[in-house]
Amino acid sequence: RAKAALNQTVCFYEVSMDEAARQRRALANDLWDAVEKKQLALHYQVQKSVMSGAVIGYEVLLRWSHPERGMVPPSEFIPLAEECGAILPIGEWVLREACREAAGWESSHKIAVNLSPVQLANGDIVSLVQDVLADTGLDPNRLELEITESTIIDDKERALLTLRQIKELGVTIAIDDFGTGYSSLETLRSFPFDKIKLDRSFMWEVEGSPQAKAIVRAILALGQSLSVPVLAEGVETQKQLDILQAEGCDEAQGYLLGRPAPITVLFTGKDDAAAA
Ligand code: C2E
Ligand code: MG
Ligand code: MG
Ligand code: MG
Repeated sequence: RAKAALNQTVCFYEVSMDEAARQRRALANDLWDAVEKKQLALHYQVQKSVMSGAVIGYEVLLRWSHPERGMVPPSEFIPLAEECGAILPIGEWVLREACREAAGWESSHKIAVNLSPVQLANGDIVSLVQDVLADTGLDPNRLELEITESTIIDDKERALLTLRQIKELGVTIAIDDFGTGYSSLETLRSFPFDKIKLDRSFMWEVEGSPQAKAIVRAILALGQSLSVPVLAEGVETQKQLDILQAEGCDEAQGYLLGRPAPITVLFTGKDDAAAA
């Protein structure tokens, strides 16, 4: 009897795994069409100087509105796109669209585009960046690429070479979600990053935990001694911003300073659709 119950459990488990796998396959299929069907959109989130409050740039954040499921969060579809390879056409679209939009702005703020490890490992990302800059006319100094440490871990030599070639184009490189990886210090030592983005998990604790504050302080000191500006992600409260200011953090990004939104909303306060 116990065995029968166990079998049933196993059976149920397998069926639900099957169902989950089926749903993922269906979603992956839809992803391949997302660019062509114009279901993707770019949102922008402001990055500001902690001292002056001046706008430094905007991080580009991808949004997918699925015809049946509505908004699918990037945490769900980016890993899927990386698994099935759709991240290559999608990533290219993001880069091209963001550069095209930014080239048309009156301001010369930077844009920070997230780069997937898969984009760096496959395809010719250097030529792509070069082509997109030439096609859109965007000043290379206005483009920053955000990469996470996992990007470098797989094939370190090759990744670092590719990043150097990208930097030679005049594009800057930021290390994203810093402090969460396994080899943070090693990564910093081996590549001249232009910015360190302190992972937002530190902000959750920085108000209450002396340990978290000590780590933030240490990373800020590290940035200072390497002459690399540090940007704190996920700043949600004034208290957090006050701490960052007191500790000498260079830049901040988070809901307190501005939520991600379509650029038309950020620049004019109006939605394209509402204005039309
Ligand atoms: P990320 O690059 O670390 O982006 C920051 C994430 O933090 C964004 O989530 C943003 O909406 C969120 N965030 C910003 N301020 C706050 C805050 O004050 N509090 C909290 N709790 N969250 C905040 P989002 O847009 O959901 O994107 C999640 C991740 O998906 C990104 O993390 C990035 O790794 C990836 N992603 C987004 N767009 C792209 C893209 O175009 N290409 C690639 N390869 N990855 C992307
Ligand atoms: Mg990012
Ligand atoms: Mg981040
Ligand atoms: Mg992140």
